[in-house]
Amino acid sequence: MTLAELQSLESRSVMDTYRRNPVEFVRGEGCRLWDAEGNEYLDFLAGISVVQIGHCHPALVEAVTGQAARLMHAGNLYYTEPSIRLAARLSELALGGKVFLCNSGAEAVECALKLARRHRAGGGFVVMEGGFHGRTLGALSATPQEAKQAPFAPLVPGFTVVRRDDPGALAAAVRPDTAAVLLEPIQGESGIHPLSPETLAAARAACDEHGALLIFDEIQCGMGRTGDMWAWQESGVAPDVMTVAKGLGGGLPIGACIAAPEFGDVLQPGDHGSTFAGGPVVAAGANAVLDVFEEEDFLEGVADRGRRLAEGLRGLELEVRGRGLMLAFAASEAAELARRLLLDQRLVVHATGPDTVRLLPPLTVSAAQVDDAVERIGRCLH
Ligand SMILES: *Cc1c(COP(=O)(O)O)cnc(C)c1O
Repeated sequence: MTLAELQSLESRSVMDTYRRNPVEFVRGEGCRLWDAEGNEYLDFLAGISVVQIGHCHPALVEAVTGQAARLMHAGNLYYTEPSIRLAARLSELALGGKVFLCNSGAEAVECALKLARRHRAGGGFVVMEGGFHGRTLGALSATPQEAKQAPFAPLVPGFTVVRRDDPGALAAAVRPDTAAVLLEPIQGESGIHPLSPETLAAARAACDEHGALLIFDEIQCGMGRTGDMWAWQESGVAPDVMTVAKGLGGGLPIGACIAAPEFGDVLQPGDHGSTFAGGPVVAAGANAVLDVFEEEDFLEGVADRGRRLAEGLRGLELEVRGRGLMLAFAASEAAELARRLLLDQRLVVHATGPDTVRLLPPLTVSAAQVDDAVERIGRCLH
């Protein structure tokens, strides 16, 4: 099928929710993608921070195909090893408590919200301007963006919104009946805005004072993206509950809600569940991703290449935000620039909002590929 035929079929058969670029990708390897005409691209988006160890990493392919050939699904009424092993590894990597596996980011957020409500019956939630937590009705209610929320009113009640990075406002919004504060340590969808350590500390203190849970949404900024396993580690402010998804499956749909030990048993039999969650194929894939993370100096390499990318962009006199390989630069007409980078320079990036271009390459990107991307951006700017 040609691209034109695909587009015509799409307009007749697919709900019109995405603005797709006119490129059909057919193959990927590492940080490279190929379109149907055989053109090669450098991928600095990784399917929005999903393809964490590069496209078709041999260890991931082997884990997934091997498991698919043995057993694809049995359901959560029985034991399968990959999911239990994955939960144990995630617990060890984060907070040391218990894990609920699910299928997506929004579902991880739903689980965290339900856990907090179960912990404090009837309690409210405090969320932040610029936050993004997903598209399901609960997660959307936690995502204070007029354009995304308004068509679906009335939303789930009980959400209070505070200004971005205003520790005083945050502290004042948390009250004795607050179930949880939900934040992204680095806001992703709204354009890569790291929250200050003071804001994270204020959230921690307010939650401690009132017995509310502190939930960090690490769906985009976690899984090694910043050069730490979790973005919050740099601040030293630990949450009670974390949400993880995107890069966890390296390309497969999987999410997780991780609770600290004190909150590991808040959800009880019958409180929550999902048919597909933690299935053996996606769990085997996530275990393979974590295996790659265990390779020597993996996260140090992410931090190094992140610094190299940020320096390269600053060398082009761009204003850079973010940490590790979660970076953005300011550009007027960002959408048009991202389009030219894709179609003329064959560099895959994404515009978040009218004046921000976001870069989220696979964490396995090489220094040479970082330099190559900076060159392509430079050629497009001048
Ligand atoms: C992408 C994202 C979500 C939603 O994840 P889905 O898998 O699209 O449901 C939630 N929170 C953050 C921070 C995200 O970046």
